[in-house]
Amino acid sequence: MLKLQDADLLRQQAYLNGVWQDALDGDRFAVHNPATGEVIAYVPNMGRIETQAGIAAANVAWASWRKKTAKERSGLLRRWFDLIIENTDDLAAIMTAEQGKPLAEARGEIGYAASFIEWFAEEGKRVCGDTLQTPAADKRLLVIKEPIGVCAAITPWNFPAAMITRKAGPALAAGCTMIIKPAESTPLSALALAVLAERAGIPAGVLSVVTGKAREIGEEMTSNPLVRKLSFTGSTQVGRILMAQSAPTIKKLSLELGGNAPFIVFEDADLDAAVLGAMASKYRNAGQTCVCANRLYVHDRVYDTFAAKLVAAVSRLKVGNGLEPDVDQGPLINEAAVEKIEAHIADALQKGASLLFGGQRHALGQTFFEPTVLAGVDSSMLVAKEETFGPLAPLFRFHSDAEVIAMANESEFGLASYFYSRDIGRVWRVAEALEYGMVGINTGLISNEIAPFGGVKQSGLGREGSHYGMDDYLVIKYLCMGGL
Ligand code: ADP
Repeated sequence: MLKLQDADLLRQQAYLNGVWQDALDGDRFAVHNPATGEVIAYVPNMGRIETQAGIAAANVAWASWRKKTAKERSGLLRRWFDLIIENTDDLAAIMTAEQGKPLAEARGEIGYAASFIEWFAEEGKRVCGDTLQTPAADKRLLVIKEPIGVCAAITPWNFPAAMITRKAGPALAAGCTMIIKPAESTPLSALALAVLAERAGIPAGVLSVVTGKAREIGEEMTSNPLVRKLSFTGSTQVGRILMAQSAPTIKKLSLELGGNAPFIVFEDADLDAAVLGAMASKYRNAGQTCVCANRLYVHDRVYDTFAAKLVAAVSRLKVGNGLEPDVDQGPLINEAAVEKIEAHIADALQKGASLLFGGQRHALGQTFFEPTVLAGVDSSMLVAKEETFGPLAPLFRFHSDAEVIAMANESEFGLASYFYSRDIGRVWRVAEALEYGMVGINTGLISNEIAPFGGVKQSGLGREGSHYGMDDYLVIKYLCMGGL
């Protein structure tokens, strides 16, 4: 069983209105360790009624939370941040157990997750309005910014902690309250964060976590008129459903959806740096991030050298249970994830690609999969169009800048993109030509709390992190003072 320094962090109840509770009908579902198949815990299988109550409580709590000064809210968030950092080891162990990522990566995610709370605790104090030029001598025009109100969040399993703090941080700092539905595979990280929020003194109802039936909870969150904003991170398909469901009540939306990141290696690139970047971008979290390199475009002149260097690096990756030392790649989240990568590989091989490394389920069984490299990939193959969300690097060959930019932009998605070049003119031209919300230039790691994370096209709406991230939780109010 999971050994923690503070066993109280592992909760099997949901946290609504400051109360730890079971589903009304007592129903529960199991949370599994993907590395072993073992059940780690059971959590409440809640639905519409519990969600409705949680939203009502968030609405009551909002009245007093919004009246606190930004500094008061900041102090509570800062305490939450400190507690998250102090409990890094336990939070990472819980995350690795339910999600599978190596412990070092889980620890990294806890630091990354906490950084959003710290950042927005500070940023909340810097929300400012405006005074505008007056169009008439007896009038004055002012703009103030107010919290939008009760927010709902639906989060994915690939970053069980960071996808919560990236939403809750700005929401709470802005003076909003939030009810969160974590992914079914990884509710324990969310509940552990709620324990620490409670200990930090964040008042009842300001932050709630509801676990259970995704569709039912989502329907309540999107249809309830008390909810003024929904923030979702997950697949484009579910994002479309939630957007449609939110239409009748005209909710403000933040959507962080799928990606299909191109990773371009130009002929003037530092190839060793490009391999390092590709490894970080592609194989982190076993390829299960929405900003993972999904299509690797390599210039004809350096294609064979890059492929050989990449295969050498990939062959050194250690696959295993994330709780064991030195493991680089854990299991995939579930059987469906394994089937998707298998389908992508089979489709590519059948259409003429060749296997340079891996390609099979790993000998460890469960949902472990070999880190894989495919060469000779072209745009007719599934991997060119769909996000694989697994440890598969498909190598495409290109001959000119115009050709590769066209191929890179040939996607309904527009989240992250990457390229390697040392030519300053090309760097600007390519950076501006890529139709993506984020561009990594000579780096494979771009996410941090200071930067605006988000996409264009069908990758979503809004930005998270950075000072822009506050805007998603604020509304502008215009005051016109007349009769002066
Ligand atoms: P993934 O493919 O990464 O699992 P999903 O979009 O399916 O992405 O899941 C992301 C989050 O959305 C999870 O918390 C999941 O429970 C939730 N979810 C999935 N389907 C729905 C739905 N119909 N309504 C509301 N939430 C949903």
